[in-house]
Order: sequence, then C-alpha cells, then structure tokens
Amino acid sequence: MMRCDGLVAVVTGGGSGIGLACVRAFAAAGARVGVLDLELSGVPEGPGVLGVRADVADRSSLSAAVASVAAAFGGIDILVNNAGISAVGTVEDDDDEQWGRVLDVNVSGVARTSAVTLPYLRRSAAAAIVNISSIAATVGLPRRALYSASKGAVHALTLAMAADLVTDGVRVNCVAPGTVDTPWVARLLAGAADPSAEKRQLASRQPTGRLVTADEVAAAVVYLASPATGSVTGSSLPVDGGMSGL
Ligand code: NAD
Repeated sequence: MMRCDGLVAVVTGGGSGIGLACVRAFAAAGARVGVLDLELSGVPEGPGVLGVRADVADRSSLSAAVASVAAAFGGIDILVNNAGISAVGTVEDDDDEQWGRVLDVNVSGVARTSAVTLPYLRRSAAAAIVNISSIAATVGLPRRALYSASKGAVHALTLAMAADLVTDGVRVNCVAPGTVDTPWVARLLAGAADPSAEKRQLASRQPTGRLVTADEVAAAVVYLASPATGSVTGSSLPVDGGMSGL
C-alpha cells in the first residue's frame, strides 16, 4: 500500500461501504482522516479519525464540517468525493424531483465539497482530490439512466477540475468501480425476487466472476491520493473486474 504519512484526508460518505474502506486504508497508510457523512454510527473511533455530520447537498453544513476537520488536524491534503445515492430506472421512470435530488448529491455534491475544501488543499504540498465515479459512466447498463448520467458528469467534472487546478498543485483523478460488495448493493439485492441468484448474475457480468471488494476500491483511492503518484492527474482508474475493458 502507498504511504500517506502525516497527511490529512477528508472522505465524504465515509460511514459505510467504499468510503469506510477508504477511511481504514488511509489510517493504515499513516494519514489522519475526517469523515463527513449523514450517518456516523459506522465510523471507526480512534485518535486519527474524526467523524463530522454533514450533507454534501448543503453548503453551510459542509463548510462547517470541513473547517472543523482542518482545525482538529491542522489542515487538509486529500479529499475523496465518495458520498452518492442510487437511482434505478429508465428515463420514463425517474421524475423531475428524483433527477434534481440525485444530480444535487452525486454531481453538485462533488463540486460543492471540492469548492469548500480547496482553500485548505491549496496550502498543501501534496494536494489531491479523488472522485468516485462508476462503471455506469462508460458502459450502458439497463435501468440506470439517471445514475449513469450523474456518474458520467463526475468523469467530466474530474477532467475539468484537473485542468483548472493543475497550476495550483492540486491533482484530481477518479476511480470507476464496477459492482462492489457494499451495503448499497445489499439494499438493491434485498428488493430482488431471488437475491442470491441476482448477486450471482451481477458477479458473472464482471470477467473476474466476482464482485469487487470495497478494500480493492480503497487501495486504488489511496494510490491516486498518495504523493507517490504526483504526476498523475485527470485520470480515471477502473476497478471493475475487467468489465469496461475486456
Ligand atoms: P453506501 O450506501 O454503502 O455508502 C454511502 C455513504 O454515503 C453512506 O454512509 C451515506 O450515509 C453517505 N451519504 C449519502 N448521501 C449523503 C449526503 N448527502 N451527504 C453525506 N453523506 C451521504 O454506498 P457505497 O456502495 O459505499 O457507494 C459509495 C460511492 O461509490 C457512491 O458514490 C456510489 O455511487 C459509488 N459506487 C458504488 C458502487 C457499488 O457497486 N457499491 C459501484 C460504483 C460506484
């Protein structure tokens, strides 16, 4: 695992799934971690981890949360924009309210959190943002119209932010997971007629024949956030069992 000794990371949605795996991976890599989430019950306790309740759809709650992490740990070097919500359906199923909500959290949430964190990142000598996109951004998946649009926007935003921030020394990359075994997928499967058959079907869509683990996504996030990848910016790293490339 790449090292992030002495650095401070902020992870949105770090109370569950991929975000929680990122919190653990950053702690193991030597970083202190601020966790911004609506729900903090899953956040691990420890001297190097600070959980702060925040909603990525609400700028004032975000500003206060980011400021409290910076005050507690003396700055912020890394931001992981991971918080996101799901939407299942075609363009005929999703209504205007749902489009507004999902785009507000999944797309504007990335821009908003980045904007309030950038004043701290610009003061860091090892500044990096990692956005969590999805296989849905680049592969057509059935009944994922709104979700796919939101994650396609995260890809585009990653490139635009990387261009804007390269001269400020802030790197911006994204990780594009396939189907990852998290509480999110468990919730989706719970609604299926036969959840274990549905899980096998999801696994079989990935050439590796299994779901991605949250730890595998977190390893890619730490890799892109660590100073060791100081020349990598504007990139997208698929962690999808080969689904997008094979
Ligand atoms: P999860 O539901 O297990 O965790 C998401 C976390 O985000 C939760 O702790 C939730 O409370 C938090 N959150 C949701 N809305 C928030 C908001 N407005 N403000 C702050 N926190 C909020 O989900 P996960 O599977 O770990 O997914 C994390 C990210 O990874 C999402 O962006 C998702 O789109 C992406 N992703 C997941 C998969 C997958 O198969 N699980 C695949 C590709 C991409």
